[in-house]
Amino acid sequence: MADRDGYIWYDGKLVDWRDATTHVLTHTLHYGMGVFEGVRAYETADGPAIFRLQDHTARLFRSAKILGMNLPFTPEQINQAHLDVVKANGLKSCYFRPMAFYGSGKLGVAPMKNDVRVIVAAWPWGAYLGDEGLEKGIRVKTSSFTRHHVNITMCKAKANGNYMNSILANNEATADGYDEALLLDVDGFVAEGSGENIFIVRKGKLYTPDLTSALEGITRDTVVQIASEMGLQLVEKRITRDEVYSADEAFFTGTAAEVTPIRELDRRPIGDGGRGPITAEIQKRYFSIVKGQDAEHRHWLTYVK
Ligand code: PMP
Repeated sequence: MADRDGYIWYDGKLVDWRDATTHVLTHTLHYGMGVFEGVRAYETADGPAIFRLQDHTARLFRSAKILGMNLPFTPEQINQAHLDVVKANGLKSCYFRPMAFYGSGKLGVAPMKNDVRVIVAAWPWGAYLGDEGLEKGIRVKTSSFTRHHVNITMCKAKANGNYMNSILANNEATADGYDEALLLDVDGFVAEGSGENIFIVRKGKLYTPDLTSALEGITRDTVVQIASEMGLQLVEKRITRDEVYSADEAFFTGTAAEVTPIRELDRRPIGDGGRGPITAEIQKRYFSIVKGQDAEHRHWLTYVK
């Protein structure tokens, strides 16, 4: 990814893609203390539009606050950086990676004597779990890795180091031939995917785990809004893995994963083993919102002019 043309916003300036580098003694590279976001822009009839940009930037600042990290830019500057990278790279649709990390002033766990550095990069990225996954659903395996305990690393921060747990879980699942992992919390209840929140459908009602051990997903919040517009009842509660096994439908949500049906968990087909009708309707509405085809939800889009 490093050797290509383009521009990355780095500490307030657009720099050449190949020059957006950092030293090997960068603090965050050693200890994982950093925060990031995943944001998408979609192609719309009025040009590229960034979905829920302000909400993503707000979460980046909340993540930094949780870690006690002071970001040297304002939310407005970070928002503008997203617009700048779309324009500079001539992108029609893209995935963004804003990230704040500690620089290379001093190593050691304490104190944080390093400058906070910030990047916003953007590149084209298709369906995270594959186009076929979006249509037919994916195969998921319950992970042998437990999701973070709330008092070890905090799940409300989208923090770099938290993703070691996600990567271990995802690697294990994909090495076993599955598409994604489902992580349980310390008490054995369903928490989330390695990079997604989860919903299940049973008898026409939607259920999703409460946010104790899961990231407060922006797609999750969008689906909550869509469900209310569809007149669906939504229950936020602790969910067990056997409730997922016996659900009529299940799906993951995430900026990268969008709305991806789960067709199987631990070799048990969910419902009819494909994309269920409620999942299909939520997915349809989600894509029409992000692509600017739904006038009611245009306030969620930031158009890149
Ligand atoms: N949980 C985890 C662990 C994630 O990494 C993500 C992706 N950011 C999500 C849930 C979904 O969050 P969002 O819908 O805001 O992308």
